[in-house]
Amino acid sequence: MTGTSFPAHASDAFSPPLQPLHVMRVPLLDLQAQFAGIRDEVLSAVVRVCDSQRFVMGPEVEAFEHEMAELLGVTDAIGVSSGTDALLVSLMALGVGPGDEVVTSTYSFFATAGAVSRIGATPVFVDIDPRTFNIDVAQVARTMTPRTRALMPVHLFGQMADMDPLVELAAQARVPIIEDAAQAIGARYAGRPAGGIGALGCFSFFPSKNLGAFGDAGLVTTNDGALASRVRLLRTHGAERQYRHRVVGGNFRIDALQAAVLRVKAPHLAAWTAARQRNAARYRELIEAAGLTSRITMPAEAAGRTHIYNQFVVRVPDRDRVKTALEARGVGTAIYYPVPFHAQECFSYLGPWPAGFPEAERAARESLALPVFGELSDDQLRYVVDSLAAVLA
Ligand SMILES: *Cc1c(COP(=O)(O)O)cnc(C)c1O
Repeated sequence: MTGTSFPAHASDAFSPPLQPLHVMRVPLLDLQAQFAGIRDEVLSAVVRVCDSQRFVMGPEVEAFEHEMAELLGVTDAIGVSSGTDALLVSLMALGVGPGDEVVTSTYSFFATAGAVSRIGATPVFVDIDPRTFNIDVAQVARTMTPRTRALMPVHLFGQMADMDPLVELAAQARVPIIEDAAQAIGARYAGRPAGGIGALGCFSFFPSKNLGAFGDAGLVTTNDGALASRVRLLRTHGAERQYRHRVVGGNFRIDALQAAVLRVKAPHLAAWTAARQRNAARYRELIEAAGLTSRITMPAEAAGRTHIYNQFVVRVPDRDRVKTALEARGVGTAIYYPVPFHAQECFSYLGPWPAGFPEAERAARESLALPVFGELSDDQLRYVVDSLAAVLA
């Protein structure tokens, strides 16, 4: 994809030549190539559901849930309508509500804290570990109170939070852990899978996640049969039998069409993730070879953890200028996240926080996600790093 400009009129040949800034286009994410490889399979799965006319629950959803439980190494997987609803129904299943506090990171996608607030509980924010962008476990203990009802770590960008100390804190306080694993499908911590350590794990199949649906979908995982039944009950308005409601739940069902699409995509997940990991490793090589390591802070891989690179997030000085300059060169980037929870207008009622959250605030100023999707070519990876070198020169 090269774009060169030629003079439109003969007279233009006398003006100085235009510098073509775009010699290549590297979007942050492009799912076309991935789809091209599975198009026929996906379309026949969609036709299968259409022919069955069973769009809600049914065999497609059941098969999907069995396959996901196996893939993720848990006893139960429950398909739900989105990652946000996975968090919401998990909180409901644990009976978290008004008066309860849920300890979580101040630095994540909005849904993490939004779900806590929406069920009427109070999110309690903790700063991040600057190396991993994940919740700073050393600060969790001092935010816990007798009202703490759950811990909700987020496995941000595809690398799991430091679970061992969190599990210990949770056990001491006798509170459950809900893992926000929306960005971390297939990630591991000391060999254990994301979504398989806490009481409940929450996944999202939003199209930009490593395993993306064709719209919204999510999953709750657990190794606790009683909790699994509770989530299933809440997912369908608290009714085991039609029109007989044991508890008040909601409509948190996954569409059979999404389940069918995800069943086609799931067997490819390991290969797609490996491609992202290769791209991340290649970035490290290229950034080092370009002598940029003093200007660009690479994402850290903590020992014993498998990073699945839903995002490859670097830190750069003067981030906003770098982002704009990369954009001008055709390189797509994103800021995850520009505003931590404690600085959101909707959570101002929870403050003030006199000590602030200096690491989350610094990350919000410095972080920049580079394209890392599996189908990037080596030329594109080189172009991104060449562009970074030019912009940071
Ligand atoms: C994507 C995401 C969610 C929400 O998932 P949706 O499917 O978009 O509702 C929750 N938490 C995190 C960390 C996410 O990245």
